[in-house]
Amino acid sequence: MSYHVKARKAKKLNTKFIFISGGVISSVGKGVTASAIALLLESRGYKVAPVKMDAYLNVDAGTIRPQEHGEVFVTKDGVETDQDVGNYERFMNTDLSSSNYVTNGQIYQRIIQKERNFEYDGEDVEVALHVPEEIISRLEKAAIERKADFVIAEIGGTVGEYQNILFIEANRIMKYRDNRDVMHIHVGYLPTPPHVGEMKSKPVQTSVRLLVGSGIQPDFIIGRAEKPLDDRRKSTLAWTCNVSSDSIISAPNLDTIYRVPMEFDRQGLADKILKKFGLQPHKHDMKDWKNLLDKLGRIRKEVNVAVVGKYYETGAYKLSDVYISVVEAIKHASWANGVKANLHWISSIDVENKGANAMLAGYNAIVVPGGFGSRGTEGMIQTIQYARENKVPYLGLCYGMQMATIEFARNVAGLKLANTTEVDDDTPHPVIHIMPDQEKKLLNREYGATMRLGGWDCVITRGTKTEQAYLKAGLIKKTGLAKINERHRHRYEFNNQYRDQLQKAGLVIAGTTPDSKLVEIIELKDHPYFVASQFHPEFQSRPLSPHPLFAGLLEAATKQHAPQSRVKLAEAQKT
Ligand code: GLN
Repeated sequence: MSYHVKARKAKKLNTKFIFISGGVISSVGKGVTASAIALLLESRGYKVAPVKMDAYLNVDAGTIRPQEHGEVFVTKDGVETDQDVGNYERFMNTDLSSSNYVTNGQIYQRIIQKERNFEYDGEDVEVALHVPEEIISRLEKAAIERKADFVIAEIGGTVGEYQNILFIEANRIMKYRDNRDVMHIHVGYLPTPPHVGEMKSKPVQTSVRLLVGSGIQPDFIIGRAEKPLDDRRKSTLAWTCNVSSDSIISAPNLDTIYRVPMEFDRQGLADKILKKFGLQPHKHDMKDWKNLLDKLGRIRKEVNVAVVGKYYETGAYKLSDVYISVVEAIKHASWANGVKANLHWISSIDVENKGANAMLAGYNAIVVPGGFGSRGTEGMIQTIQYARENKVPYLGLCYGMQMATIEFARNVAGLKLANTTEVDDDTPHPVIHIMPDQEKKLLNREYGATMRLGGWDCVITRGTKTEQAYLKAGLIKKTGLAKINERHRHRYEFNNQYRDQLQKAGLVIAGTTPDSKLVEIIELKDHPYFVASQFHPEFQSRPLSPHPLFAGLLEAATKQHAPQSRVKLAEAQKT
């Protein structure tokens, strides 16, 4: 569809466009802001299509190192996206798709392909116009796909970088050339330097000036800061940035990001946005959300959950961004069980060096999340052995399932040198191996978007803990085919040659693909909760619908009473 056809279609939809930029620092909270606004507008009866626009030239996030990018979030249709798409899904409680994620790589790839196909009819293809037009066309596509009243277009990075300038250009062109209904919200950070002790607005003034210099006057400023902005800060920002005080919204630190929508609602943000577009709310329904937050406020009991993975250090800092969906899924499940989960980040390398007993004593549950490559895998296997032998509730996610299979093969089934071929090509017992089609892709260096990705059906085995968990969540019925759909991102699989042998040794196959060819879930008997999935359940966990496998883990964890001394030890290990 050409840009003009799309523009006409989207015009018929009468879609409004809200661009969101960030200023002063990265990680300022644009994603949460965009998600919160999306939720608030939907709660008023409007349909929203959020779009994350990333400036990098990678076509998707799949090939970016985790330390550099943070988590790769996978959509149901199998696109490897930015973690903000995960935030949108969690707040909006909906599945999004490839049309909700745009990168400069996709934009340039499409333009060059069009040029090669003579789709520009001999025109001189320019960065200045054709790139913003392609961006606009992607926003239109998102609008059409969701029949959206609003597109929320989140511009990755901060203003003033020249990498994302063409997204801002798209905003400017839509507003001034095309006369569309476009609004801009700028999220800026107001620091309170400890040696000054006063909240400073100058950095935001400067970032707004940069934005204005790019041709965009913001309609709203979200003041992200430790505390709410006082009148003085608001009036300074108002007169220096050409907005009314009324259009400056505070985004103070809160105990959970899920309170942000309520905080914005309290300040009337969604209604102010609607009013600027000349619209009225159709309804105002935040009941479920409010109930969740009320419940959360009443929680007193705590459990300690150890997440044993890798990729933690970046320079002198530790990162938990890599596992953001895992973190959120644990939170959702803990709230559903009426407890608060304290997360403890444990590097599997430390488990290798200091031993599982020293590193893992005292936790109420252990999670081994996804990962790639050989570093730290022995520590994961030791962790899983510890969880199995000490009957600590365990959930394995993708690599955490593959490692659990290896641990079982080695220590229960007696296949001493069992491994995955990802780690040891010459293992005599490749209990996890690569499928021929995947191997071919690797040999041809076809890395981008070629893993087993996105939603796949899985049939659950009756009589398992997995079945109980999904039944409880109402996702399957007591009779008939117990079919679920979960998201994947991996190249290696459970090796069927070992299926009988491992089952005979006591391993339970709790789920397979409908054709029974691929093992998707394993679990153990005689254990309070030991479940591991080849898919990533964390991608489908939402605050209002926690994922059954995490809910099952946390339920088992709340029943697990760790001896006091061990809890203290765990406290000491807190990072
Ligand atoms: N490295 C493993 C594979 O490629 C697991 C991937 C993951 O944990 N996402 O199969």
